[in-house]
Amino acid sequence: MFACAAILLIWAILGLDWWSINRQYSGNLDGSSDDFMGVPTPSWGFLLFAIGLVATLLIIEGCRLLFGVRDQANQQFALQRQMIDHASEAMILTDAAQRILSVNAAFEQITGYNAAEVLGLTPTRLSAGHQGLNYHRIIWDFVAENGYWNGEVWDRRKDGSLYPKQMRITAIRDETGAASHFVATFADISEAKAQAERFDYLAHHDQLTNLPNRLALDAHLAGLLDGAVPGINRLALLIIDLDNFKTVNDSLGHHAGDRLLAELAQRMGAEMDRSTRLFRLGGDEFVVVINQLDRDDRIVGLLNRLVMVIGQPCDIDGHLLHNTSSIGVSLYPEHGRDGLTLIRNADAAMYAAKAAGRHNYKFFAESMNAAANKRLHLESELWRALAENQLVLHYQPQIDLLSGKVVGVEALVRWAHPVRGMIAPADFIPVAEECGLIQQLGHWVLLTACRQVRSWLDTGIDMGEMAVNISAHQFRQPDFVQTVRGILAETGLPANRLELEITESTVMHGVDAAIQTLAQLKAMGVRLAIDDFGTGYSSLSYLRRFPLDRLKIDRSFLADVDTDPEAASLVTSIVMLGRSLGLQLVAEGVESFAQAEFLRTLECERVQGFHFFEPVSADEVIGFGRCADYVPLPA
Ligand code: C2E
Ligand code: MG
Ligand code: MG
Repeated sequence: MFACAAILLIWAILGLDWWSINRQYSGNLDGSSDDFMGVPTPSWGFLLFAIGLVATLLIIEGCRLLFGVRDQANQQFALQRQMIDHASEAMILTDAAQRILSVNAAFEQITGYNAAEVLGLTPTRLSAGHQGLNYHRIIWDFVAENGYWNGEVWDRRKDGSLYPKQMRITAIRDETGAASHFVATFADISEAKAQAERFDYLAHHDQLTNLPNRLALDAHLAGLLDGAVPGINRLALLIIDLDNFKTVNDSLGHHAGDRLLAELAQRMGAEMDRSTRLFRLGGDEFVVVINQLDRDDRIVGLLNRLVMVIGQPCDIDGHLLHNTSSIGVSLYPEHGRDGLTLIRNADAAMYAAKAAGRHNYKFFAESMNAAANKRLHLESELWRALAENQLVLHYQPQIDLLSGKVVGVEALVRWAHPVRGMIAPADFIPVAEECGLIQQLGHWVLLTACRQVRSWLDTGIDMGEMAVNISAHQFRQPDFVQTVRGILAETGLPANRLELEITESTVMHGVDAAIQTLAQLKAMGVRLAIDDFGTGYSSLSYLRRFPLDRLKIDRSFLADVDTDPEAASLVTSIVMLGRSLGLQLVAEGVESFAQAEFLRTLECERVQGFHFFEPVSADEVIGFGRCADYVPLPA
């Protein structure tokens, strides 16, 4: 092109020379020759010059345009290259024989190879695959047939490390339809994969104990039971529920409860082997699945070991906790052939173990399902019981040991069931607590008891103070103090006629809030007693801060007090403790004269128990103004 332009330029210069020589000889200023019929004709030199000049100019313009287009193309190419190099996905361009022609920066970054090291090699040779050459052959066969391949492969970096990548291979075809090149793009998905694995782990594990959770249990059971053959395969499912966990949580707080669960999970986990797996169902419930069960004594062996490790004392925040558990067992195929049934039946067995006094285990029996259904039925019936006034209060007198007089009564709720007769509170209070009915129920008890004392007083009957049991849920209601005040105002009962019984665990949970509530009640003039004292985890330093009036010694301490010196010394210490805190004492569950006598020698002022009176209706209790059965021994 340049040569052409140069030749034309020389042509134009020669034309110019010729024309100027002509002009010198002809004397025509424009270099034209003599007239042709009066019109001056241009000289050959001028023509040559003009044509040369125009052609040169045209060629120069052509060159300019051509170079401009080339520059633009170059610029575009450079931009595309930059785009490819800035892409986060690695790219490989190969020829038809899969030899690498070009790679981008992301390829170098992901694989650790630089371009010079890989040009001419095939991607398959580079990867030294985790999945074997055969896998790569399948991929390339697919590309050959379909023109593309999409999928996940494992590959090896230059440093030898393996990584997963998401890859797409596309064939570039020529006019004949044959693949002339291949483009492979891929991204390192190890991080995304790790993230997905993490999410999957979180979805299937409990964060507190790191044990697999309910979702994982369902999947595990489905995996084991899918294709299991009754008679050949056999497995056991154990549901383990801690007996006293709620008390720990309520008295020492959730943090201590969490630590206890983590500790017990670890202990139980240490008892697992290749064919047993531990799960946390939630709360204080754990599940063990025993797979490949060959002998039933393996279950009993494991049950005993679990009971033992759970029973070893746990030091939580300086408190030595002694734990027990109730365990229910169901077996495949006898008790269920799918996961849900096995879990439900083990749960029913666990409830049966609890009902039989806790701290034991039970294998499922068909009759237990009836009990579980009964519990569910109870819940729906309880709503109706409240609405239809099926609840009644019985009253158990409290006796002053020195005078033998009734000095108070405790209101105890019963459910007069239209079909099943009188139901004890232990059978429905926990259900009411679970299903949220306890507040309505508690309100009804408090109002009815206060109305009862008011009506006794109005008819001149003095039964002393009315003790009312308050459940933890009720006590923690923000408007509890207001409710008590409202009921006292509504019934016109003097506040000092009402005594509220609260358990240790109720006040030990959220101590500061409890102190505030107790102080407000106390300021109102209401009396306050700790019920079932000795069964919770009271901290003495806290006990001192609660504005209490009375401790009710739990009846479990009284049982052997007249025969067992250790039991006697325990009750003696409780009485002394109460006294040192300036509190009055009531002993519950006094069933014999000997127990009453022992308590009198300790100067425990009040007693309550079947030896004196059982809880009876309001009408019956007014006949017990004085206890005829008890004749105090001379001091
Ligand atoms: P508690 O408050 O410790 O009540 C004493 C329980 O011991 C009563 O059982 C009573 O009948 C029983 N008892 C009394 N003397 C003796 C005895 O000499 N020997 C034996 N073995 N037992 C005796 P009950 O009425 O079945 O109440 C059980 C628990 O139910 C109560 O224990 C209390 O925690 C709860 N409860 C009862 N009524 C209510 C209520 O209205 N509200 C709430 N929140 N709980 C209630
Ligand atoms: Mg009580
Ligand atoms: Mg009690």
